[in-house]
Amino acid sequence: MNKKLSACVTSQRFSVIRDMVARAKAYENVISLSIGEPDFDTPSFVCEAAMRDTLKGHTHYAASNGDPELRAALLDDIRRKTGLPYEGKHLLITTGAMHGLLAVMRTLLEDGDEVLCPAPCFSDYAGHCGLAGGRLVQVPTTFENGFEPTRADLEACLSEKSRVLLINSPCNPSGVVFRPETLDMLADFAKKHDLVVVSDEVYDSITFGREAESIATRPDMFKRTVVLNSFSKAFAMTGWRVGYAYGPEWIMGEMVKVLSYSVASTNTAGQRAALYALTGPQDEFAAMREAYRRRTALVAQRLNAMPGVRCLAPAGTFYLFPHIEAAEADSFAFAVDLLDKEQVVVVPGFPFGPEACVKGCIRIACTVDEEKLTEAMDRLEHYLNSLS
Ligand code: PMP
Repeated sequence: MNKKLSACVTSQRFSVIRDMVARAKAYENVISLSIGEPDFDTPSFVCEAAMRDTLKGHTHYAASNGDPELRAALLDDIRRKTGLPYEGKHLLITTGAMHGLLAVMRTLLEDGDEVLCPAPCFSDYAGHCGLAGGRLVQVPTTFENGFEPTRADLEACLSEKSRVLLINSPCNPSGVVFRPETLDMLADFAKKHDLVVVSDEVYDSITFGREAESIATRPDMFKRTVVLNSFSKAFAMTGWRVGYAYGPEWIMGEMVKVLSYSVASTNTAGQRAALYALTGPQDEFAAMREAYRRRTALVAQRLNAMPGVRCLAPAGTFYLFPHIEAAEADSFAFAVDLLDKEQVVVVPGFPFGPEACVKGCIRIACTVDEEKLTEAMDRLEHYLNSLS
């Protein structure tokens, strides 16, 4: 039997994050700071409204581009946020931003096309580019530059195969929100080298100081930018699998075919839930964001007080990406040993970027309450002290 499989699938590795979670199953009294998922449940008013709609018959396929009411509400929201004239033809509802990422890469890339992405970056991007036949080129940034790319960083990684610039601000794993001048530089760079920009903005509403601006708002960027967003993080709706993508018609008009052939339509009940989350009272969501602000501030403050540890001030998301001297030799061995000795799960830095920028880093997701975070920091401190 010929067991030949597609190399663009077999060359992908399984997620290191899931590997750490699987290892943790062998231990008791574990505190997991590993998964990028809100610990809050979806507010009950959202679940109840979606359930009522399913009882009223919202149980069929939706259109491939999405539920009309959700699309209308999102268009209002996007126009208000960006001040740009987005219309129906520019917007698609996707099965989470994960599906948006795969669909946009499938639409943009051909064999060997390269996607430049400032790193540290979300570890799954390599899979999205690879499954679409392209290749992710991680552009190393530095802790000293606050993990923001410089023009020289990007230019060093350009090639004649460069086709897409993929950015993620606020950023998983670093929690960094790009400064306005960094966005200006990125827009200029994309125009000069005729790159399409894919801007992953799934954490755009979780910021603690500077607001996250969209690169789509920079001059002449409307026609070359696809923005991806999602209900997963901002509305604590990971399991409903609803995201959205908006961009110029020349891309979105083709990308809808990928949606249509891959999922037909995003799940109907999920889209109804997203509609109620977006248009309903916002106080519960604001309270979640406030909790992320308090938690990341607490953990950053604890980390920076530990010997051999430095951590950027949290600006957005619920992640921190501290540099730990004791993890420099091997961040994976560090994470496994920390789990073994103290039952704290963190993610080693290596899947998030090239050695040059992630050496000695680990990712911490502040997705447990402050009491547990305090306990986790006590255990980490105890572990570091035991090493010295
Ligand atoms: N982009 C980033 C940066 C993420 O962290 C995630 C989730 N971890 C996603 C996209 C995908 O989110 P979802 O598919 O749940 O919308």
